[in-house]
Amino acid sequence: MARKTTRAIQAAKKGKAAKAKPKKAQRKADAKALHGGTPQWKPSEIDEAFRRFEAAKPEPKGELIHINPFTLLVAVVLSAQATDAGVNKATPTLFALADTPEKMVKLGEPKVRDLVKTIGLYRNKAKNVVALSEKLIAEHGGEVPNSREALEALPGVGRKTANVVLNMAFGQPTMAVDTHVFRIGNRTGLAPGKDPLAVELKLIEVIPERYMMHAHHWLILHGRYTCLARRPLCEGCIIADLCKWPGKIALEAAKAGSNPSARA
Ligand code: SF4
Repeated sequence: MARKTTRAIQAAKKGKAAKAKPKKAQRKADAKALHGGTPQWKPSEIDEAFRRFEAAKPEPKGELIHINPFTLLVAVVLSAQATDAGVNKATPTLFALADTPEKMVKLGEPKVRDLVKTIGLYRNKAKNVVALSEKLIAEHGGEVPNSREALEALPGVGRKTANVVLNMAFGQPTMAVDTHVFRIGNRTGLAPGKDPLAVELKLIEVIPERYMMHAHHWLILHGRYTCLARRPLCEGCIIADLCKWPGKIALEAAKAGSNPSARA
């Protein structure tokens, strides 16, 4: 197994893991994948994929700048339908002024709005950030709660945000399914599902426990930098020979020793 892992990572480093088919074939493959048309990976394939993610990046980290659980929560709320890079441009100034719910409430909605105005949907997000700060003070002694129920009761906080906070701030093995994770789950066959919740539950069911803590970051980073929505970089993909997306062709360098059934 170790040889197979190393070989796959080396093939990806050389840009010889796989090749994406022409655009039309990719679109057709994605349409099929998003309707549950990709076969589900076997447990041995899932184990091998995460062994590779771990070998390539043993300690994956989230990219949102934060100082403490409260600023993490605020950063995740601000990141809805926005990029982490965009959020990170605005938050250092915001967090320098307000890194606790008390300071955020004191700063006030107009000032918060002004500081986050480069982020999409900033008006509503600024309102939610101040409102959730008020609620944290009123109901949780100014602390970020570590339960899903309490987090999802905060303004602007949904299941995905709660999952990120539970995972990153409290070390719980949750799975936040954003657009990247949803795409990878369906495209590859790791966790096919018709909506984010179905993919989340499938990922929790199939990912071996020992990989759960970092699985969320490995998948997000894979979607952000390799398995891109419009132009997947299959040539540099460390799981290309395992991936069952019909929009790519496995190359010889990665095929050697791989599971024949996984070849496109
Ligand atoms: S997981 Fe890898 S091989 Fe599969 S579509 Fe994404 S980039 Fe291509």
